[in-house]
Amino acid sequence: MSEKFSGGQSPIDFDHRYQGPLYNEDHRAWRTTLRKFIEAEIMPHVNEWDEAGEFPRGLYRKAAAVGLIGIGYPAEYGGTPVNDPMYSIVTAEEMARIGAGGINASLMVHGIGLPPVLAIGSDAMKARIAPQVLAGEKIHALAITEPSGGSDVANIRTRAVRRGDHYVVNGSKMFITAGVRADYYTVAVRTGGEGAGGISLLLLERDMKGFTRTPLKKQGWWASDTAALYFDDVEVPAENLIGAENQGFIGIMRNFNGERIGMAAGANAYARVCFEDALAWARERKTFGKRLADHQVIRHKFAEMARKIFATQAWLEQCVVRVKAGETPVADLSLLKVQATLTMEYCAREAMQIMGGAGYMRGCRVERIYREVRVNAIGGGSEEIMRDLAARQLGI
Ligand SMILES: Cc1cc2nc3c(=O)[nH]c(=O)nc-3n(C[C@H](O)[C@H](O)[C@H](O)COP(=O)(O)OP(=O)(O)OC[C@H]3O[C@@H](n4cnc5c(N)ncnc54)[C@H](O)[C@@H]3O)c2cc1C
Repeated sequence: MSEKFSGGQSPIDFDHRYQGPLYNEDHRAWRTTLRKFIEAEIMPHVNEWDEAGEFPRGLYRKAAAVGLIGIGYPAEYGGTPVNDPMYSIVTAEEMARIGAGGINASLMVHGIGLPPVLAIGSDAMKARIAPQVLAGEKIHALAITEPSGGSDVANIRTRAVRRGDHYVVNGSKMFITAGVRADYYTVAVRTGGEGAGGISLLLLERDMKGFTRTPLKKQGWWASDTAALYFDDVEVPAENLIGAENQGFIGIMRNFNGERIGMAAGANAYARVCFEDALAWARERKTFGKRLADHQVIRHKFAEMARKIFATQAWLEQCVVRVKAGETPVADLSLLKVQATLTMEYCAREAMQIMGGAGYMRGCRVERIYREVRVNAIGGGSEEIMRDLAARQLGI
């Protein structure tokens, strides 16, 4: 093993390993463009931004200029339409290389905020909102989770009551990404009776009277702005209703499958980053007269990490094939997300263990990723909820 792994491109080089038939020249070109952008505009500042708990707002415009914000969105609003999940996988993989998920979460927050508007919003609303968001001029958040709970989406309590030509909104939202500095918020509100059939989506705008926000501190994702939102008799024009009244749940559901495939790709890519950083360390570090990588116990840790990463990647690609064929494999996508976050968790643990004290120090990708495991396992559908959904889909 030691000979094969000394210098040059290792057989485990993930970028070269995963260049199978699903990847074409356009995907490769997109990866190259994105990697250059990230190396130049993000990598030199990651530690500083993570410690500061924010990144400059100007990064949205820069990301839009390189095509990152607009990829996958309609050309009429300034996007680059690509009907192919491989682009979101390549994007998730490259963003994971930053090793600070908070930058990705806030920078790409429009990926959860904007789709419901595009899916069920009026043409006038799309034309007003989407071009500014895709140009990186405005930030668009999604606010569903409430202090009373996030998993049980159908049970939200924030209420909107129609009065003439506007709605009056009262309630609060919790753990909202880009919550302090967003300009637009796709907000789930209750306009009807209990359950999913009583939920609508409203577009709230940051300067509306009675709408306030407070920042929240958290274990990881430091560079992401996470906030609690408060609505105190906020008057929202009726034309800000996204889709039909009491049909908002459909708009929320539209997000789920795409978000899960992206999150699974991201989590597995974070696992890869952990593997790579630990391997670089283990090839250099010597203990008891030989490199860490030459101790069998350590070698087996890498083999085990690789086993989980390869399996997750193979399943991810199988899901992509099915999605491209027009299927919506809900059970597989739900369980894939669980598989990916467990792989990330395992690899973050093993990588930090291999790196010893150095891996525990701030400023190191593995240390940050370790802190970000749980948010991946909880957000975008928690492991428990994903398993339950899959079990039901599988008829169990
Ligand atoms: C950093 C961060 C950013 C976020 N950004 C956003 C955002 O932008 N917009 C947004 O709307 N939300 C956001 N969230 C919220 C996230 O979606 C929720 O945290 C998530 O949906 C879980 O909801 P909860 O935290 O209220 O936990 P709960 O729903 O209270 O669940 C608590 C625990 O119980 C488990 N559980 C719940 N019900 C069951 C059940 N029936 N069976 C078994 N186990 C169950 C859950 O899996 C979880 O482990 C964010 C969260 C974090 C931490």
